[in-house]
Amino acid sequence: MYYFNPYAAALFILSVYFLFLGAFIFLSRRKIWTNFVCSLPYYCCAMWIFGYAMLYSSKDPGSLLWPKFVYSGVIFIGPTFYHSTVVLLGLKRQKKLVRAAYFTGLVFLAQVLFTNTLIVGLKKHAWGYHTLVSPAFHIPFLLFFIITYGGALKNLFDKYRKKGFRQEQPLEFTRIRYLFLQYLMGALGGLNYFTDWGFEFYPFVGYILVTIGITLVAYAILKHRLLDIPVVITRTGIFIAVYTIVLGIPFVITGWSKNWLVKECGINWWILPLGLMAAFATIGPFIYIYLDRKAEKRLLREQNRYREILKQAARESARIHNLRKLLNLIVYTVTKTVRISYSGLYLFDEHEVRFNLKALRNIKKKQPTFIDKDSPLAAWLKDYKEPLVREEVKRRAEEGQDSVFVKIEKEMRALNATVAVPSFLEDKLLYILVLGDKRSGGIYASEDLNVFSLLASQTALAIENASLYENMEDKVKSRTKELMETQKQLIQAEKLATVGTLAGGVAHEINNPLAAILTNAQMMLSTVENKDDKESLEMIEEAAKRCRSIVQKLMVYSRKPMAGREVSKLDLKKALDNVNAFLGYQLSQENIKVNVNFQGSGPFLVDGSQNEIEQVITNLFLNSKDAIKNIARAGEINVSVSKGPGSVIIKVSDTGCGISKEYVSKIFDPFFTTKDVGKGTGLGLSICQSIIEEHKGTITIESGSKQGATFIITLPASL
Ligand code: ADP
Repeated sequence: MYYFNPYAAALFILSVYFLFLGAFIFLSRRKIWTNFVCSLPYYCCAMWIFGYAMLYSSKDPGSLLWPKFVYSGVIFIGPTFYHSTVVLLGLKRQKKLVRAAYFTGLVFLAQVLFTNTLIVGLKKHAWGYHTLVSPAFHIPFLLFFIITYGGALKNLFDKYRKKGFRQEQPLEFTRIRYLFLQYLMGALGGLNYFTDWGFEFYPFVGYILVTIGITLVAYAILKHRLLDIPVVITRTGIFIAVYTIVLGIPFVITGWSKNWLVKECGINWWILPLGLMAAFATIGPFIYIYLDRKAEKRLLREQNRYREILKQAARESARIHNLRKLLNLIVYTVTKTVRISYSGLYLFDEHEVRFNLKALRNIKKKQPTFIDKDSPLAAWLKDYKEPLVREEVKRRAEEGQDSVFVKIEKEMRALNATVAVPSFLEDKLLYILVLGDKRSGGIYASEDLNVFSLLASQTALAIENASLYENMEDKVKSRTKELMETQKQLIQAEKLATVGTLAGGVAHEINNPLAAILTNAQMMLSTVENKDDKESLEMIEEAAKRCRSIVQKLMVYSRKPMAGREVSKLDLKKALDNVNAFLGYQLSQENIKVNVNFQGSGPFLVDGSQNEIEQVITNLFLNSKDAIKNIARAGEINVSVSKGPGSVIIKVSDTGCGISKEYVSKIFDPFFTTKDVGKGTGLGLSICQSIIEEHKGTITIESGSKQGATFIITLPASL
């Protein structure tokens, strides 16, 4: 016969709770075997507590059915706990010991089930019937329990103390620490054993401790991001404490004052305690909610502090237009607020199509400077839009759920990233924030990650704006430079054009009188007899010829076309041969050697006037000759002809005096010369330039040539 015993009611609830936890553990992860083993202790505890609940509810148990049921569970608490540590920690060598523990358990079980030598009877306590065990049983059983349960604790403790474990796997470390702590608490459930020996020891304390312990173990195993655990622990703690007190007080009061109540109220004595219980049960939830709120406030204080600082940072970020400052603000804020050992920000670069390290804080080790756009990490972040914690990636990699995690783990290790936070602007992955360990050695909680995501999303827009701004600034700068360059060219062109027109006009005007002077001088020369007169006339003729040559040059320069400009397909080799034939003798007399080198197979064809191209080369050779003679008795002119993409390149270099820096920008100016008066006109290079431009080519001086001068002519290759 059974009756309603309030003490038993609590135990019923507890046993259901344990069953629920066991099932939860079993279903929580994909590793079926580990989950199964880890859930076993919960079922054992459920049996133990359910057995007692039934026993407490029995009016007159008579048989030992429920005690036997209780012990069938209790016997295996030790072995199953031990077994779960062996499986969890992968301690393969202890497998034999696990088997031995189960076997011993089975021996105890057989004795409990088939004989009455171990459980000798029942004892009635104030709260109901309780088992009574024989000393022959309890001493070996206690030993057995201590050894198996102690073995489990030792396994955890060894792992906990293992060198480097904390640094390498902070998450796992915390998990083990909790497990250890909670198993230790669970062991206090053994206090109930005193009752089994016949002591008047109310076993509720043991039940509560075990419940708290077990709850925490369950969470420690389950939670990936462990920082939520304090919240869970506090909540569970408050819940159990509130209900133990709220429901316990009426019991205790009833226990103490039952006789007095019966005397005072007679047969309806129970109305008072029942009313009390109802009242307490009603206020219970309010007390719970009140305390829970208080606790939450305390627990979330840190989070609120984060929020405040980050909100401020986000607000500030909108005002900063300088990209570098903005990025620095982000890494600074994150590092300071959460107290992280180091952090780096990889910003997406449109040109290089990858994430470049743009801001960093406290990174000492050699940090990779970029993250590839399609790297496993970037791809994952892009797809899932969530921060990644390396510990978790590692766990998933180990569980072998997805081989991509192995790669991500490797990448994160290379980046020294404990956490990687993505920042999105709509669907575009804007930057990846890489964070190191916390200074406190603590682990990242989901709460931290939420805060990072918040910051990342709030700064995204500001960064996008700043980079647009920056791009614009860069563009304006480069455009201004381009403009200035064009303007310079324009001025130069304008100058040349003015000088050209002027010179052309003057030349044209001088040409006719000059022709008259020359013809008349020549005519007089043929008739005059006097020697002095003849000499004078010869000087006039010489001077007039010189003038004519200058005038002709001026006319070329001003594009007053001289007679006979022929445009054709011409081979540069031929042009160079002609120049050599023309100047070769003169140059060799001056001890100057000309080396011509054709790179690649010919012909080197361009469209243009052979005459003009030869004129350009002649001019360059003569300038080189003058430059060499300036400093030495002998020298070399080296010419190389090669093909570029769609062009032909002629390089003329010499071993002469070279061109000083201040003159480099001037030598193509008309009338610029460093030569003595009467020797140079300063028109040679300007004419060369206008001829080459006429041919749609360019002529430049090679900058940085150590000695001598090098002129480079590029002409479009003939098709
Ligand atoms: P000119 O030869 O009549 O002086 P150019 O226009 O041909 O006029 O040359 C301008 C100036 O450029 C020269 O006076 C000389 O200072 C410099 N120059 C030209 N070619 C060379 C060279 N190969 N080596 C050194 N200086 C040179």
